Amino acid sequence: MSEHARLSPSASERWLICAAAPSREEAFPDTSNDAADWGTAAHKMADHCLINGIDAALAAASPLWDKYDGPEMRECVQSYLDFVRSKLTPTSTLFVEQRLSILPEFEIFGTADAIIVDGHTLRVLDLKGGKGVLVEADDNSQLSLYGWGALDSLAWLASENIQFVEVYIVQPRRENIVSKTFTAAELVAWMDANREAARRAYAAVAGDVATPGAHCRWCRARNTCRERAEYNMATAGFDFSDECTPHDPNQLTEEQLVAIFLRLPTLEKWMKDIEGHVATLAHDHKVHGLKWVAGRAMRRIADPVRVCTVLREAGIEPMAEPKLLGIGEIERLVKEKGLKVSTLLGKAIEVVASKPVLVSEEDKRPEYVPAAHDFAEELAQ
Ligand code: SF4
Repeated sequence: MSEHARLSPSASERWLICAAAPSREEAFPDTSNDAADWGTAAHKMADHCLINGIDAALAAASPLWDKYDGPEMRECVQSYLDFVRSKLTPTSTLFVEQRLSILPEFEIFGTADAIIVDGHTLRVLDLKGGKGVLVEADDNSQLSLYGWGALDSLAWLASENIQFVEVYIVQPRRENIVSKTFTAAELVAWMDANREAARRAYAAVAGDVATPGAHCRWCRARNTCRERAEYNMATAGFDFSDECTPHDPNQLTEEQLVAIFLRLPTLEKWMKDIEGHVATLAHDHKVHGLKWVAGRAMRRIADPVRVCTVLREAGIEPMAEPKLLGIGEIERLVKEKGLKVSTLLGKAIEVVASKPVLVSEEDKRPEYVPAAHDFAEELAQ
């Protein structure tokens, strides 16, 4: 889904909570990057294939996608095409790149990559070209806004009263498809509950008080936002006397350690943002109180041929044994040949679980119950 509205559905996680965010973000350019341009090119190719009823392999060269064209893009687009086509029925109608009017009074619009109208069901399909963050369906306001927009804009196209709206996000590079089915009544109720928050965000100005939280993560104003800094400083300024009663005034209790542990990801992200932002400023101009110094000196081989010759003369073999490439690099090379790792290498590649990760009890993932020996190695270290 592409969108250029001030209150974009993809940023709704932010503006539904922090009304000031859209105004504050306007001061920071929405710069495109290679990953975003890759996604735009993949969308263009996917639209072209759906409109012309062809597979990705048959898409001719085009300036719209040539820069990023290759086996990986074609595979990504084909996965999306296959999924969209699997949702078509003999009675359905497909709309490609369909403009959605979500809340026009607040200038909230979007463009659905594909919409399928099928009896009393509307299907909204969105291609995500990203391979970073895994999109999830739970608590995803973007899905509700897409669903509402499709219902409100397109229900008139259906031959029957729309009762259900299915929203799908297809993220081929993460082999991830998430979906949510709403009844029409649920979408109406969701919109009624959130319309006021949309109105507030639409009316807000940059000077209004901002509401920080986990949603600050992708905000363009995050590096210089005072409220976010205060929130994080307050988080760091943990009051040990209030939270629990220490059994020994010089020792943190387990409860206090857990409280600190749970705050670490938020603090780490904020510190990294500040570190990066200040470094950018210092590249740009002299920042009072800071200076650049030389990095730690490291040795490196300036003349590999001479090093090999001299070492061999000294009876030392300079070359290491050939080493198998990592799985990521193998996958990249296999894809470049237009092949699939699973088909080509089959059981030679196995999936093994990595170490368990310690997270908050609030996390949605099911609890991992280890066998007694699982942690033995770790504890022995
Ligand atoms: S950084 Fe957070 S608090 Fe500040 S404007 Fe953005 S979303 Fe709001």
